[in-house]
Amino acid sequence: MIRKMRDGELVIASHNSGKVREIGELLHPFGIEVVSAGALGLAEPEETGATFAANAELKARAAASAAGKPALADDSGLAVDALGGDPGIFSARWAGPDKDFALAMSKVHEALGDGPDRRARFVCALSLAWPDGHCETFEGVVEGDIVWPPRGGQGFGYDPIFRPLGHDITFGEMEPRSKHAISHRADAFRKLVAACFAG
Ligand code: IMP
Repeated sequence: MIRKMRDGELVIASHNSGKVREIGELLHPFGIEVVSAGALGLAEPEETGATFAANAELKARAAASAAGKPALADDSGLAVDALGGDPGIFSARWAGPDKDFALAMSKVHEALGDGPDRRARFVCALSLAWPDGHCETFEGVVEGDIVWPPRGGQGFGYDPIFRPLGHDITFGEMEPRSKHAISHRADAFRKLVAACFAG
């Protein structure tokens, strides 16, 4: 049975205030008030999982157990088919300590070479955990392909080299509103809200 959260306070296991505010706005209609892990002084656990879902779960469980309240965490990245799913859970790390995504995108380009298989997807796992250890996890995906050179200055991360299926432009060239309608994060959120917050 999927556990629902009816109302009350939800910890967002992120130190990114933009992310926390956005999630707060999304869940406000369901009677949920959000508080960030940063504001509660919670430590960020090491992401030792082998999958997006495992990392989202371990972050959500750590925050829920430390705060004594339900907690929501996400993990996301770019998975390229011809690279066996890389950079995958290492998407942020491919950019190095300076968070240099021009470098990370070049690494993808070099690894792919002129190979004919350009298929890729962005994946987002969202986990909602309770202090007793119960956890619900949802995965969202947007399929697409890798283009080179990078195109567009919108978005962040790998957006300029990712062209979603059925579109001529990359996420880097897309209006934020259009990206948010089809993104992996939106897909995961729709599933989470339908299962755990709505109805
Ligand atoms: P996380 O914040 O640990 O989940 O790391 C996610 C990483 O995946 C980011 O640093 C980006 O490199 C990449 N990523 C995730 N979602 C997107 C997206 O929507 N556009 C571009 N890159 C993304």
